[in-house]
Amino acid sequence: MSRRKIERLCIVCRKKKNKEELMRVVRTPEGLVRVDPLKKLPGRGAYICNNIECINKLKRENSLNHALRTKVNREELSEIKKELENLLGRGDVKGESL
Ligand SMILES: [Zn+2]
Repeated sequence: MSRRKIERLCIVCRKKKNKEELMRVVRTPEGLVRVDPLKKLPGRGAYICNNIECINKLKRENSLNHALRTKVNREELSEIKKELENLLGRGDVKGESL
């Protein structure tokens, strides 16, 4: 069992992927929803694919509320989306360094 790859479901497209192909969003014990780049914060987590399509759909479908059993308002959601986009950019897009 311990040798198996850790797979998680993307909350947007519902595909099973390896943890490295997903980004984690967590609802902390304090009730804050935030992006968890290192995937190790405590709390209820939700996973989203490392791709812009899933991030964009996240905004529309609000699967995050469902997955995290919480209510993220529009502002929080766009913050989260922005952070996910940043994270995505750091991963596989070679942008100009500031
Ligand atoms: Zn996905």
